[in-house]
Amino acid sequence: MFMEPGKKLKKYIICVIFVFIFSMVLVGCTQQSQTSPNDEPTDEMKNVSSEDSLKLLEEGNARFVSGGTTTKDISEAKRENLSVEGQFPFAVIVSCSDSRVPPMQIFDQGLGDLFEIRVAGNIMDPVSLGSVEYAAEHLGSPLIVVMGHEKCGAVKATMEGGEAPGSIGSIVEKIKPAVEKVTASGIPEDQVYEKAIDENIKNTIADIEKSPIVEELVASGELKVVGAKYDLDTGKVEILAE
Ligand SMILES: [Zn+2]
Repeated sequence: MFMEPGKKLKKYIICVIFVFIFSMVLVGCTQQSQTSPNDEPTDEMKNVSSEDSLKLLEEGNARFVSGGTTTKDISEAKRENLSVEGQFPFAVIVSCSDSRVPPMQIFDQGLGDLFEIRVAGNIMDPVSLGSVEYAAEHLGSPLIVVMGHEKCGAVKATMEGGEAPGSIGSIVEKIKPAVEKVTASGIPEDQVYEKAIDENIKNTIADIEKSPIVEELVASGELKVVGAKYDLDTGKVEILAE
């Protein structure tokens, strides 16, 4: 009737091993489900809507903020897959070149997910706009996010004025209307810097929306353009009201 102590211990050890293996399998499955939406360009990813795209970005940023970023597939197989299948980036991110603002990390995305246009002050010129149009029209990206950021050096340099050496002047000239508009509004001086950053985001959106290609895609409901602002301290991206 009663089990010998040795047998009891053996049974106990087998039980512990079984529970351990079972837990490992469960953990594996969970991790798989977390990473899979971004790791393969499935048909679902190819047909993602503007709303779904924004949701993917918001979820990714929430992971980044909480430190719970997923492990992205950067294997040889993944690179080969993207090379053969092509890219299907679900969002276009127009952001500042600032080294503290890398979209792929901020939105916790992998290879092939984001089409990034990065230039100091997140401004538009014909070359950048061509890149945006290519992603929207040719690659079918359903969402364009113009992402400025807190404490942007390009906006600060514009506010400070003075001589801009080399080609830096062309960046300053592009940001100037935002600074002038905010300064003229008469808001408290300590708010001018951050408000000018917001205004500059709006100006870039306006530049993008002047594109007939973008205009047509937006009118047909296939494309959305939104503004966003990155907080350097918290890591959070705030989607700005339209
Ligand atoms: Zn910047």
